[in-house]
Amino acid sequence: SSVFAGIAQGPEDPILGVTVAFNKDSSPVKVNLGVGAYRTEEGKPLVLNVVRRAEAMLINNESRVKEYLPITGLAEFNKLSAKLIFGADSPAIQENRVATVQCLSGTGSLRVGGEFLARHYHERTIYIPNPTWGNHPKVFTLAGLTVRSYRYYDPATRGLDFQGLLEDLSSAPSGAIVLLHACAHNPTGVDPTVEQWEQIRQLMRSKALLPFFDSAYQGFASGSLDKDAQSVRMFVADGGELLMAQSYAKNMGLYGERVGALSIVCGSADVAGKVESQLKLVIRPMYSNPPLHGASIVATILKDSGMFDEWTMELKAMADRIISMRQQLFDALTSRGTPGDWSHIIKQIGMFTFTGLNSDQVAFMRQEFHIYMTSDGRISMAGLSSRTVPHLADAIDAAVT
Ligand code: PMP
Repeated sequence: SSVFAGIAQGPEDPILGVTVAFNKDSSPVKVNLGVGAYRTEEGKPLVLNVVRRAEAMLINNESRVKEYLPITGLAEFNKLSAKLIFGADSPAIQENRVATVQCLSGTGSLRVGGEFLARHYHERTIYIPNPTWGNHPKVFTLAGLTVRSYRYYDPATRGLDFQGLLEDLSSAPSGAIVLLHACAHNPTGVDPTVEQWEQIRQLMRSKALLPFFDSAYQGFASGSLDKDAQSVRMFVADGGELLMAQSYAKNMGLYGERVGALSIVCGSADVAGKVESQLKLVIRPMYSNPPLHGASIVATILKDSGMFDEWTMELKAMADRIISMRQQLFDALTSRGTPGDWSHIIKQIGMFTFTGLNSDQVAFMRQEFHIYMTSDGRISMAGLSSRTVPHLADAIDAAVT
């Protein structure tokens, strides 16, 4: 007997649970397109060369110790992370208006930012896109915010519901928080154009809506770190305030190292100092201070121009492979004469394709073809290879005909 005997079995996580089911499948042709983790052409996880080099340097450095980091993390990492997303010449950085704290990857950055807002910001409602990454509503609700959604994706066009987005943000209460995916929107792969971002920016600033950017894919979407940061930089350039959650899981392949940063761009250096002092009070009782290793890897790479260049090349190679998978899958469906318009596969951006397949079709493909994806029909293009594209195309073809 147990004092916990009355506890109900909890449900699997809708995304990570796909991998649990995949691991139980003994078929040799099985393919896991559920979780958003990069795989090579050979289907293997990838540790970047530049990351291996940085780790070797760290391990061979005999003066390195394992002391606790400060509550805010590795100072050098924080500075370099802000520079990476906002740009080296960002006025907000030059004017010392940015408070940055190292957090547990993107998720931890969102959570710390959410709790900070719940404690200190006057409007506790956050608007998230519909649909969005499945963890967003849970993270923000548990942080103490009230979650509402704004229209984002239009299933009819498999593109942006821009009119709906503008209407919903227009009717949000003044001051409300708005979560924005900086690039490579997850799960839809649909991003606003630069002109649309500009309209969103004007609307949000005119209503004093507070932007909370989630950047989990900088450089991974287009292959260019600067291009993928363009939306964010437009909002910093106008001098206004915002929150920024950054992850190095995908773009440096540091998934399990849990390395990320929360930056809050403030109106003045004085405010940024106070904000940082309050972030420390959020973090200290939660986990005291963040882990050392991953942040040391990132700082080693970002501060050395040779290693930085090597990283950008490896990053571009990952982005290019994903883009080529889009083309190959599109071509394979076209050559099979699969009914329907599949052009969204090559139009969508980033790690995922939102296929438009329904949950019955997803179940059919798992049952008959051992292909695993989330029930919303999202597939990770990074989990595909030239070898598995034909199998996936056969499965989609069978599912829709
Ligand atoms: N935001 C979005 C939109 C994501 O897709 C992810 C990763 N799936 C994250 C945040 C956070 O990931 P992590 O905590 O591993 O950095």
